[in-house]
Amino acid sequence: MFLGAEGLGLRAKGLSTHVMIAAWDLGPYLSPEAKRCGLRALTSSWARHHVNISLCRAKTSGHYVNSMLALNTAVKAGFDETIMLDPEGYVAEASAANVFLLRDGVLHTPEVTSCLQGITRDSVIQLARDALGIEVRERRITRDELYTADEAFLTGTAAEILPLRELDGRKIGFRAGAPAVDAPIPDDSVTARLQQTYQHAVRGELPAFKHWLMPA
Ligand SMILES: *Cc1c(COP(=O)(O)O)cnc(C)c1O
Repeated sequence: MFLGAEGLGLRAKGLSTHVMIAAWDLGPYLSPEAKRCGLRALTSSWARHHVNISLCRAKTSGHYVNSMLALNTAVKAGFDETIMLDPEGYVAEASAANVFLLRDGVLHTPEVTSCLQGITRDSVIQLARDALGIEVRERRITRDELYTADEAFLTGTAAEILPLRELDGRKIGFRAGAPAVDAPIPDDSVTARLQQTYQHAVRGELPAFKHWLMPA
């Protein structure tokens, strides 16, 4: 949704409101290898928005300038993704995806302050709790908790659930069988089980989550 071009100025007075829906065949957003093997990320030197600087719960195009600065710095340095910290230095999210970590069988994800309250984040929290019986805690998370996590992954509508294998050159967990960072994650990892459960849920194969879907 955007304002019209009837005038110039921050007061935005008398401007019409437009709605545009861009629809095209997205195809796989990331390679199938990325889903199985995951991503390598760099912690960004660009901070994520602060709650008193912007409406962090809104998915506005203006926020993406911040995401692009962070992502492009990481990509130019040879990484796939970036992890952005909030202005106080705690983990917020990736450039356009939320982040989770697993530690001792419990999932942790940043509380909704600087990060977007993503739909996939919410879906994964419900699937973990109700379908897999895994406890989920929303709280402040430090970057070294990601370094030492047993597993970590990113969530988003386009990304779905993507393993995070390495942050700042440090390998993240997935210790069962200790696969190399470019090898697929183990099928019995929580990340892989959540990926499978998510695929079943969004295809209407889980009766308990069918109410998420709107049949065409
Ligand atoms: C879109 C987006 C997400 C993921 O949200 P979903 O609703 O799951 O697609 C997370 N963080 C940012 C900054 C985003 O733009």
